[in-house]
Amino acid sequence: MNFQRTIKKAVTLTGIGLHLGTEASVTLKPAAANQGILFQRLDHPGSLPIEANFRNVVNTQMATTLGKGSLTISTIEHLMAALHGFEIDNLLIEVSGPEVPILDGSSLPFCEALKKIGTVSQSAPRTALAIKRRVEVKLAEKWAVVEPSKKFEIRASIDWDHPSIGYQEFHYVEGQTPFSEISAARTFGFLRDVEALKKMGLVLGGSLDNAVVLDSALVLNPDGLRYPDEFVRHKTLDALGDFKLSGIQILGSFKLHRAGHDLHRSILAEVFKDPANYEIVTLDAEADEALMASEISVAARFAV
Ligand SMILES: [Zn+2]
Repeated sequence: MNFQRTIKKAVTLTGIGLHLGTEASVTLKPAAANQGILFQRLDHPGSLPIEANFRNVVNTQMATTLGKGSLTISTIEHLMAALHGFEIDNLLIEVSGPEVPILDGSSLPFCEALKKIGTVSQSAPRTALAIKRRVEVKLAEKWAVVEPSKKFEIRASIDWDHPSIGYQEFHYVEGQTPFSEISAARTFGFLRDVEALKKMGLVLGGSLDNAVVLDSALVLNPDGLRYPDEFVRHKTLDALGDFKLSGIQILGSFKLHRAGHDLHRSILAEVFKDPANYEIVTLDAEADEALMASEISVAARFAV
């Protein structure tokens, strides 16, 4: 049997919000089986929690933003990716304001916190969504495809007309690719865009401390890149975080080209639009083996 997981105890992370540039904090708290992942705005006491689900995504510009009524919570994707990496199904996430802190622009600080506090198996079995037929979406030169597979995998590619990026591809296979291959990959942006956005009052917290920043030719961060192909690895991390918004483990093989938050949401919406596209299955020993979802494998995947 493959059982749901939550965390052993609460943990708080504090930093700067990417968009407002003010202090933001996020507290992760254990939650009961079958509750799923819920976000709660602490600055609006009594407001209803927002389920971490792609149907609640209200903005995909520069980050994934969830919303309900007039309340929004942005920059959730790197935290969601860490939750995917640690196979966490149930969690209450309390946020001090409208954004999750950007921290270092990757999921590494979340992973370090989760590793420190530990996760715990719950009594309820975990289900999975098995893709039954090919589904695809295209938006101009970007596209996303998912096909049936016994395991969850992502083949991501990007093609950027920039001397420090160019064409890059990365293949992530659940249970085989150590999460540390992508967890530290940072978000990235171009100096000219960052300056223009700041003039518009956006990404006020953006800096070399929380993003890879490039001018027209080079990476400006004094310490350079964390991986030679950090850009496509970050894109893969973003996809893992956004696909966690399906609310269920997916058994399917994704191919993503020049994808982003908008396309990630679109491919999930397309899959869920027609029940003939998928089947909900209980993870048995065979699938368990394919996912390598045991406590031992989680530990092994995080061993550096
Ligand atoms: Zn990102």
